[in-house]
Amino acid sequence: MILVLKQNPEKSKVETLIKMLNEQGLATNVSEGESHTIIGLIGDTSRLPVDLISAVDIVENVTRISEPFKAANRKMHPEDSIIDCSGVKVGEGLFQVIAGPCSVESEEQIIEVAKDVKASGATLLRGGAFKPRTSPYAFQGLHADGLKLLLEAKKETGLPIVTEIMNVNHLDLFADVDVIQVGARNMQNFDLLKELGKCRKPILLKRGLANTMEEFLMSAEYIMAGGNNNVILCERGIRTFETKTRNTLDLSAVPMLKKLSHLPVVIDPSHATGISWMVEPLAKAAVAVGADGLMIEVHNNPAKALCDGAQSLNPVQFDTLMKDIKRRVEFEGKKM
Ligand code: PEP
Ligand code: MN
Repeated sequence: MILVLKQNPEKSKVETLIKMLNEQGLATNVSEGESHTIIGLIGDTSRLPVDLISAVDIVENVTRISEPFKAANRKMHPEDSIIDCSGVKVGEGLFQVIAGPCSVESEEQIIEVAKDVKASGATLLRGGAFKPRTSPYAFQGLHADGLKLLLEAKKETGLPIVTEIMNVNHLDLFADVDVIQVGARNMQNFDLLKELGKCRKPILLKRGLANTMEEFLMSAEYIMAGGNNNVILCERGIRTFETKTRNTLDLSAVPMLKKLSHLPVVIDPSHATGISWMVEPLAKAAVAVGADGLMIEVHNNPAKALCDGAQSLNPVQFDTLMKDIKRRVEFEGKKM
């Protein structure tokens, strides 16, 4: 439910109203827009005396939100949310590129690639330490050692780091990680999402392989229901009948998610196709369709990568792509 307040309401009256709503067991989300202040109510509003609230003199109108996602809903927060990732801001005209290898493999590898992607203009460094692999015999990541190496690469380059969590029991290990990634396979790991709702770190939530946009937003809602509003959505391709590409990039998810929600949306063209030469055309498409950023896999030597080499760009290819993307981002009136 949302309450739209009359223009320039008295501050003390707003505070009294919020106190009254909190006493009804509801969390409030206050959004001060250019013309109106909106109070979003999160929780069970079914027993709220709507007539009484509508009659409060600073309230202009009361509307129920019919969608099941509330905190993530744009009606609750009409302006785009900007997510601060240790100083790197994602959303509303600020386009960011997250780049790095699928997996952290060694100190030399991650530091070299971190320096390369930074020189090309990436603003966040990715690298998996805990890898969700289809085969139990495939490289599973360097685990805690991988996180340490990422932190070293951060120290060397100043790039905030983005890395995937697979198990809720590992949360303590992620204390110094800047952005925690929830991978496609864990999008509906509700216990994990609830736990991430208790922290205040930015969460990069990837869309599940076979999940609808509504299910995707409901997973964001799990995190936000715990009080963590720092969620970035990542479209990374979905399962379809097509076999020529690893997944099918659902570009239509960008405008739709941005219409339904105030959260930023980034595109991962690497996992979307599984093919390195397809990264460039789809990265361009991501900019054109209104994405707030990109996540791209870059490896020093893709042919030798322990994971996802076929979809990884080498640093030279990434540099060429970034020059082109920068022009396109500027054309869209955004900053990179
Ligand atoms: C990844 O980012 O390396 C990854 C495993 O992605 P996804 O969860 O989208 O498959
Ligand atoms: Mn990968």
